[in-house]
Amino acid sequence: MLELIVLGAGPAYSDDIGSVGSAYLVRHGDDAIVMDLGQGAFSRLAHMVDPSAVLAYFISHLHPDHFIDLIPLRHYLARAEFQPGRRVRVVAPAGLDRRLDATYDTPGFSAATFDMEPLAPGTIEAGPFKVDVRVVPHAAESFAFRVAGRADGDPGIVFSGDCGDATALIPLVRPGDTLLAEATFGPGPVPAGMPHLDGPTVGRLATEAQAGALLLTHLRMGCDPSETVRSAGQYYDRQVILVAPGDRFEV
Ligand SMILES: [Zn+2]
Repeated sequence: MLELIVLGAGPAYSDDIGSVGSAYLVRHGDDAIVMDLGQGAFSRLAHMVDPSAVLAYFISHLHPDHFIDLIPLRHYLARAEFQPGRRVRVVAPAGLDRRLDATYDTPGFSAATFDMEPLAPGTIEAGPFKVDVRVVPHAAESFAFRVAGRADGDPGIVFSGDCGDATALIPLVRPGDTLLAEATFGPGPVPAGMPHLDGPTVGRLATEAQAGALLLTHLRMGCDPSETVRSAGQYYDRQVILVAPGDRFEV
């Protein structure tokens, strides 16, 4: 059984003082992985687990609201109590190390604690987890993930990342999976040229892909939460929840 814990479900900016950037902890017994680590997520992660014991950090794409709290994670791993420092595995689009180094204006800042692996379509294993990776249209290199246990037939969690076309997610979702999908533009519609999704689109996707539950996330500032849930529920007759930091789900 997997446990999904929402660390952060916010968009790139928000007037909600509780907003935390995109970040999700997935646990399987004592093992854990993290998907995205956006603004404000590190403290929530460190409050729950030792961040140095996380098996791998998967970063969906290189927009800062999905990775910027790797900076506090980097400082944590190098803290004096851990000398000579601890390392973690970071699986991300190529170039993340260069961006982190530039943010800190220090070559090698990232490499000092992060074992970086470039993301590519396929399957990646981390302890008891199997992570299927697919390209989605959004930023230059953007990915969606399906996390499951390693046994065939285990139910999974599909995380859309940020995604401009719901059909790109269909091959990733198996019947009964929990679909964690961005609904940036709430009840919709998505303005032309914006590479994001809305509630109705995600609701239709959940039905077509036979998802077992639909979790909405990454709602844009100013969009109405209950209208967003209702808009997705018009096209999907099972449970729809707009997630918030601290939410937990068993899958
Ligand atoms: Zn993005």
